[in-house]
Amino acid sequence: MSALTPVLSAHWDEKDSFTIEAYTRHGGYTASQKALAMDPDAVIQLVKDSGLRGRGGAGFPTGMKWGFIPQGDNKDHYLVVNADESEPGTCKDMPLLMANPHVLVEGCIIAAHAIRAKHAFIYIRGEVTHIIRRLNQAIEDAYKAGHLGNGVDLVLHVGAGAYICGEETALLDSLEGFRGQPRLRPPFPAIAGLYARPTVVNNVESIASVPAIINNGAEWYQSMGTEKSKGATLYSLSGHVNNPGQFEAPLGITLRQILELSGGIRTGHSLKFWTPGGSSTPIFTDEHLDTPLDYEGVAAAGSMLGTKALQIFDETTCVVRAVLRWTEFYKHESCGKCTPCREGTWWLVQLLRDLEAGKGTEEDLAKLLDLCDNILGRSFCALGDGATSPITSSIKYFREEYIAHITNKGCPFDPVASTLFVGAGV
Ligand code: SF4
Repeated sequence: MSALTPVLSAHWDEKDSFTIEAYTRHGGYTASQKALAMDPDAVIQLVKDSGLRGRGGAGFPTGMKWGFIPQGDNKDHYLVVNADESEPGTCKDMPLLMANPHVLVEGCIIAAHAIRAKHAFIYIRGEVTHIIRRLNQAIEDAYKAGHLGNGVDLVLHVGAGAYICGEETALLDSLEGFRGQPRLRPPFPAIAGLYARPTVVNNVESIASVPAIINNGAEWYQSMGTEKSKGATLYSLSGHVNNPGQFEAPLGITLRQILELSGGIRTGHSLKFWTPGGSSTPIFTDEHLDTPLDYEGVAAAGSMLGTKALQIFDETTCVVRAVLRWTEFYKHESCGKCTPCREGTWWLVQLLRDLEAGKGTEEDLAKLLDLCDNILGRSFCALGDGATSPITSSIKYFREEYIAHITNKGCPFDPVASTLFVGAGV
């Protein structure tokens, strides 16, 4: 495994990295010129050959998704970029857009050409006003420079801040002016997406990866990563580490390697548990330090690569409390469309609050797992499923800590000394 590989983050350390001047200085907008001179199908083939997979969580091959758009149908096609990043721990797209918004603008020009779309939209959360300003400036500068407006128009749409709008069909409803709630599929967006027209919805990092692929070729991209997970990607390291931040590395790197390269767990402490892909992915422990962080490796170990949000928790963290906080988030963000998630997440929070406060029983623990079983696979979208992941995985690895809350009639962690006092009746 090679060391960190800056491609997307190559010039983030330059003071003016976000400007069109800096982007152009480093070869920006040459990939779009190259792509616009190519047949759209050849662009799709190149992205297919590169092996690029969606970086928003699902890992679906990007070129294949573009290839689903029907050609010669005389309908408008749309490109929609999902910049509604809001899962706890997930923080890769916003830093990328802050440091280099033009790489996304250029990626949009290439992707729109490939799928024969004249209109592209970026859907972004309303809370990130600094990023919105930066992206607006980048779009304005790209229009002035003639990169936009000559075949493709790009609109930045600011959402009102709902986690569910990161689900692609809820995002499309919101973009159309409706309340953001997931749609029944089929039809899939490739057939009937925005305004019931063929639409590609891609994550920010997926589209931002395209200009480098056009410039350097599919083989170059294929040379990084593992057999089925090609390329480099942004891993977001947060929590109890010495140097939190974005670390760009080939897919397949391990958490141990990232920690070695980035300063490790905070001094004097040890790893207790972590998320490989955000709070909706089953947690891992120190047993998984050498799990390859690619789509297949993480799945084989029982979790998901998700958004590569590596949230690190050391031995001072109460796992029940951490899981309760995540579950409160999912309860709050449940859109209410389906019963298992709307009612289920409310009950999950009630049970977890009791357990964390030492008012729970072993029966409650069983009830918690039963509830998860009734939400998982029975909810309308992935939010419901995701809400159960931290609960079931934490009980799998830390059942004794849940029991300690019950037997101690309270949290066994002393918040001052930050040590575990199992059996001390704290
Ligand atoms: Fe809405 Fe939750 Fe059902 Fe998804 S799973 S549709 S977020 S209620």
